[in-house]
Amino acid sequence: MKCPYCTNLNTRVVDSRPGKIEFEVRRRRECQDCKQRFTTYERVEQAPVMIIKKDGRREAFDREKVLRGIQKACEKRAISVNLIEEMVDLIEQELRESNEREVSAKIVGEKIIQALKKIDDVAYVRFASVYREFKDIADFIQELKGLLPRECRSVEFDHLVDGVVDKVVDERADKADDRS
Ligand SMILES: [Zn+2]
Repeated sequence: MKCPYCTNLNTRVVDSRPGKIEFEVRRRRECQDCKQRFTTYERVEQAPVMIIKKDGRREAFDREKVLRGIQKACEKRAISVNLIEEMVDLIEQELRESNEREVSAKIVGEKIIQALKKIDDVAYVRFASVYREFKDIADFIQELKGLLPRECRSVEFDHLVDGVVDKVVDERADKADDRS
């Protein structure tokens, strides 16, 4: 820290105490050259990370909102409140550390999806199905298929999935026919 009197760079902290506001430290420094004393304040930078919504509007990152979304997905699952809090902490920390002032809501959503994927399959699918707005059952099944261990993704399963998808497609085609 430069001395404000003589601009010498060699200054020494002689006292350090909490400031009047939270996350602030007040320091008394002494210039090693001219011996003048001066005060500096150190604060935690807490500029909000702005979230860019789908329609382009910006809003400050809302921790509570993320927490509620995850809680909802984890409803009636064996997931502790602490674990959910940790997930939110990690997501918030990642956003702050990315040093981006603006982050698209999509990135936040994907971070939540990835975090849930590691913890609970049901919570993950619940969140992903709402968030990614699966267009149809085929999308949804693709997602479920990805959850299976490789050795379980047998030919039969593929066959079954294809069968279901074909059926859905057929039903849709039928409905379209009925309408025409
Ligand atoms: Zn000085």
